[in-house]
Amino acid sequence: MRGVIMHAPGDVRVEQRPDPVIEEPTDAVIRVTASCICGSDLWPYRGAEPADNIPMGHKYVGVVEQIGAAIEDIQVGDYVVGSFVASDNTCEICQAGFQSRCQHQVMMGAIGTQAEKARIPLADGTLVKVPGVPTDAQAKSLLAASDVLGTGWFAAVAAAAGPEKTVAVVGDGAVGLLGILAAKRLGADRVIAFSRHADRQALARKFGADEIIEERGEAGIARIKELTNGYGAHSTIEAVGTQESMLQAIGSTRPGGHVGYVGVSHGVNLDGLDLFFATVNLLGGPAPVRRFLPELIDLIMTDQIDPGLVFDLELPLEEAAKGYQAMDERRATKVLLTI
Ligand SMILES: [Zn+2]
Repeated sequence: MRGVIMHAPGDVRVEQRPDPVIEEPTDAVIRVTASCICGSDLWPYRGAEPADNIPMGHKYVGVVEQIGAAIEDIQVGDYVVGSFVASDNTCEICQAGFQSRCQHQVMMGAIGTQAEKARIPLADGTLVKVPGVPTDAQAKSLLAASDVLGTGWFAAVAAAAGPEKTVAVVGDGAVGLLGILAAKRLGADRVIAFSRHADRQALARKFGADEIIEERGEAGIARIKELTNGYGAHSTIEAVGTQESMLQAIGSTRPGGHVGYVGVSHGVNLDGLDLFFATVNLLGGPAPVRRFLPELIDLIMTDQIDPGLVFDLELPLEEAAKGYQAMDERRATKVLLTI
């Protein structure tokens, strides 16, 4: 099969890779119909994480081709969505809704789903069957559900977004933008997005942002306090993962409020005393997308949400390198790879 390999930072190639096979009775093999390039794929691309001949990709939608002997819920031919962490969905952590930290978790990034096929471990727990056959637009949205929407949704839930709440969103990448959509769907009264890019501001408004703040850091915090009678937001989504964004998120939140942080942390150091006096609830980490998939699939297949709008560049798998370049140079927010 063909698949993406990152040979070194900045060096992405599409090459022949061995076809995946059933290794465990709980595995399935799917034919991937679409995958995408993630903001987190840019960390190794830019040399901030090791990249030495690694398979790439961790989101996917596709059709089941083979199942292991122990599989009960998934059948060959099913159109399925999974997330970036394979999980059994039965251990105590999964049952509590934190499938991304399943006791038996397998990170899909190590398998690499920017490829024609992929082995899915713990397939009964990991994959969710889509009813019917999705349209092209629905298929894009399902791919968004597989990761960026699921992550934005978790951030909004972790930030306790809901009725009568003002929600601030730090980060205008795909996750932040879909965090806006999630906060609105969860009933938030008012969503304020931080963004200084005209195209992303437009998408933020489309997904439901009521106001946009262009300032960052201390100036951004001052602005959000101005807009909330000096209080700050009830709920803040942090979707970047840097020192500045994390401090901006905590600083934007009123005492007693909630921060949902889903930006993968790179170099974040929090001062204990500042954290102590911030008096905010912090919940974050790798999003348990699996918890939300059934609900998100239903919202997408009944055309109630259209998160697929977040993809602004579509390329065939063979041209994956162009997609990495476009995202690295910020010419694209999110790249869809068709397979
Ligand atoms: Zn589990």
